Amino acid sequence: RFDKDFGQHILKNPGISDAIVDKAFLKPTDVVVEVGPGTGNITVRALEKAKKVIAIELDPRMGAEVTKRVQGTPLAKKLEVILGDVIKMPEMPSCDALISNTPYQISSPLIFKMLSMPNPPRVAVLMFQREFAKRLVARPGDALYSRLSVNVNFWATCKHIMKVGKQNFKPPPKVESDVVRIEPLLGSARPNVAFEEFDGLLRIAFNRKNKTIRAAFSVKEVLAMCERNYKVYCTLHNIPIDESIADAAAADDMDVEMDVDDDNEEKPDEDDGTAMDEDDDEDMPTFFKDLKEADAAKEAAKTPSRNPKSKVALVVKAKVNKVLTATALADKRARQCDQNDFLKLLLAFHEEGIHFS
Ligand code: SAM
Repeated sequence: RFDKDFGQHILKNPGISDAIVDKAFLKPTDVVVEVGPGTGNITVRALEKAKKVIAIELDPRMGAEVTKRVQGTPLAKKLEVILGDVIKMPEMPSCDALISNTPYQISSPLIFKMLSMPNPPRVAVLMFQREFAKRLVARPGDALYSRLSVNVNFWATCKHIMKVGKQNFKPPPKVESDVVRIEPLLGSARPNVAFEEFDGLLRIAFNRKNKTIRAAFSVKEVLAMCERNYKVYCTLHNIPIDESIADAAAADDMDVEMDVDDDNEEKPDEDDGTAMDEDDDEDMPTFFKDLKEADAAKEAAKTPSRNPKSKVALVVKAKVNKVLTATALADKRARQCDQNDFLKLLLAFHEEGIHFS
């Protein structure tokens, strides 16, 4: 019996288990992490090729199965089973390769967990539901382009490896699957910015991916967060807040707020056909959840707030405008921006002392 809540769709076609392991191009010195070994179909093949496999399994019954499967064989001493939820582990064990017939409910958090590792694996060969895999390889302008697509293409390269029909699983899932190979950028090739900073900016931009970047940065809560972070930054670095630009910003204020309405004729983001779109929000901090609600409320009210502004708020607003003008990205929509646009934006914000984590 399989437990649906654990996303247990066991691979019954040995050719696919072979292909997944082959596509990782394992070396005999490699340590492999496998997420969700289940009964061990992929695990035994990885054990034959690698130095060690650390198998992380949520279901103790499956943990016992995979242990039993290699018991009394030379592979047993190469296998370590960790019982638990990989997403809840403070850190994923460091490894050379990550392999998984991924339980569909942790697709997004697993990718984020891997990409944010300070020393990610050399390669990850992962099977996902097809719609999710398509989002990983989506390019700017594609309907499935999302915060996930930008992150994957910024921190790694991602290639589609093969299609896998649902008849290859027991029980068969509702949808088809795809295997992808992700190769994280390592060492000096890894972008020299903090994962949380880049992702923090993307969360703001993709809160409404069909809106302009200017509109994303006109949301009251976003500006409030920028202000909070700017104050912290100034305190930590002993930088006096330059209030001289506040007056100019105050004069501009009306224009800036009017900009928010540039997009009002545009409809809110439509369902882009990805039932899993909300997956990206699973690990969303409260601020961003608030942001979604605030954004909806704002859309309903259609009138920008006229609350009196503090001097720091005006300074931050002026800085945001400066960045948007300097990068020439103000009128571009998140769905059209590539990872280089977002990096340019992030570095320009950092120049102004504005951070996102
Ligand atoms: N690897 C096996 C195969 O291909 O035949 C089983 C794959 S099955 C799709 C997913 C496996 O992941 C199940 O064994 C399930 O119990 C396990 N699992 C589900 N959620 C998990 C989590 N959060 N952490 C670790 N394992 C998990």
